[in-house]
Amino acid sequence: MKKTLIIGAGGVASVAAHKCAQNHEVFPEFMIASRTKSKCDDIKTAIEKRMGKNLKSKITTASVNADNVAELVTLINSYKPHIVMNLALPYQDLTIMEACLQTGVHYLDTANYEPLDTAKFEYKWQWAFDDRYKKAGIAGILGSGFDPGVTSIWTAYALKHHFNEIHYIDILDCNGGDHGYPFATNFSPEINIREVAANGRYYENGKWIETKPMEIKRERNFKEVGQKDMYLMYHEELESMAKHIPNLKRARFFMTFGQSYLTHLKCLENVGMTSIEPIKFNGIDIVPIQFLAKVLPDPSSLGARTKGKTHIGVLFQGIGKDNKPKKYYIYNVCNHEECYKEVGSQAISYTTGVPAMIGAMMNLNGIWDKPGVWNMEQLDPDAFMEALNKWGLPWVEDFNPELVD
Ligand code: NDP
Repeated sequence: MKKTLIIGAGGVASVAAHKCAQNHEVFPEFMIASRTKSKCDDIKTAIEKRMGKNLKSKITTASVNADNVAELVTLINSYKPHIVMNLALPYQDLTIMEACLQTGVHYLDTANYEPLDTAKFEYKWQWAFDDRYKKAGIAGILGSGFDPGVTSIWTAYALKHHFNEIHYIDILDCNGGDHGYPFATNFSPEINIREVAANGRYYENGKWIETKPMEIKRERNFKEVGQKDMYLMYHEELESMAKHIPNLKRARFFMTFGQSYLTHLKCLENVGMTSIEPIKFNGIDIVPIQFLAKVLPDPSSLGARTKGKTHIGVLFQGIGKDNKPKKYYIYNVCNHEECYKEVGSQAISYTTGVPAMIGAMMNLNGIWDKPGVWNMEQLDPDAFMEALNKWGLPWVEDFNPELVD
C-alpha cells in the first residue's frame, strides 16, 4: 500500500487532502505535516466531518519545519511515503527536494523555488537536481497546480493531438470572484504580492522582453465571467515552455485584476509595505511584506465569502496536424461557491489542489514515475486530462477563439 506525505496546511493543501480522501483507492493512507500541527489537525477534522462514514483513507498529522533537511529526512524515513507533495511555500522547494533525494522518495510541487531574500523565481535551482534524481531513480514533478500545471498539460495535449508546431501561446488567467474585502489575496499574500509587484516579462523570438509591472493591458470577454481587464505578467511556466516547446515564437501570460486591487497594491507599494528588505521595528527586524501578509485576511478564510467564477485558459496558434494554420483555445471555469460547498475552500485553492492530487495519482499509478526532474509539459497528458474531467476541473475546447493582439 503506497503512502503519501503532504507538506503544508494552507488553502491548497486542504483541497489536495480532501481530494486524496475522496480518491481513497489511490490514497489509502496519507499524512499532513506542516509547521503548525494544529492546522493539519483542523484539515483532518474538516475531512472527517465532511465525509463521515465515507472516509476510508487513514489520515495522520505531524509537525515539521520544512526549511530543515534533517527534520524532513527523519519524518520521511519514519513515515515511508511513496511520494511527497510539497504544498508549503516555494521557499521550501529545495530543502524538500533534497530530503526526497536523500530518502529515495518521489517529489511533487505546485510552484517553483524562490529565494526568501530575492523576489526572483527561476527553475535553475530545481533543474539542477535532474541528474541526481535520475541516478536515485526518483521522479521530481514540478508545478502540478493550475498555472503552472493544468496549463502545461494543456500545452502537451495541444502538441500531441492538435498541432504539428505551436508558435504562439497566451495563458489567460481570470478570477471573476468577489470576496467582498477591499483588498485580500486568494493565495499566500506574500507570494502573490511578490509576483504581482514584479516586472512583466514575455518570450519572443528567442529573447525575453521585460515590461514595467502592469504596463501591458488587454480587455477580454471571458466566457461565464464577462468583460475584464487583464495585464501581462511574468509567470514561471513561460520559462519551462520556452525551453521545452520546439518552434515556439512567443509565450505570454495575462492575469485579470480589478481596479480596487491595483489601487490598494500601488498604495501599499508607495508606502513601502511590499518591501522584502528587513527593517528594525521596536528593536526587532521585520520584513514589511511578511508583516502585511499577517494583517491581511487568511486566504483560507475567503472561501465562505467568495462568489463568482474563475476562467483560466490557454490560447494556441500554430500549424495544425493537417499542416494548415490553426488556432485553439482550451479553458476551465470553476465556481467559487461550488468549491466551497464541496471542500470548504474557494476556487483558487481548488484549481491548485485538485491538479496536485492528480499529479500525485499519476505518480502513484506508475504513469509518471520516470526518474528525473520534469515540468508538466514534458509528461504524457492523456491520463491527466481524463482525470481533470473526473475530479472537478472539466475543460472546454474552442476551435475558433478570439485572439489577443
Ligand atoms: P498558504 O500560505 O495558505 O499555506 C502555506 C502552508 O505552508 C502553511 O500551512 C504554512 O504553515 C506552511 N509552511 C510555510 N513554511 C513552512 C515551513 N518552513 N515548514 C513547514 N510548513 C511551512 O499557501 P497556499 O496553500 O495558498 O499555497 C501553497 C503553494 O501553492 C504555494 O507554493 C503557492 O505558491 C502555490 N500555488 C500554486 C498555484 C498554481 O496554480 N500552480 C496557484 C496558487 C498557489 P503555517 O501555517 O505554519 O504558516
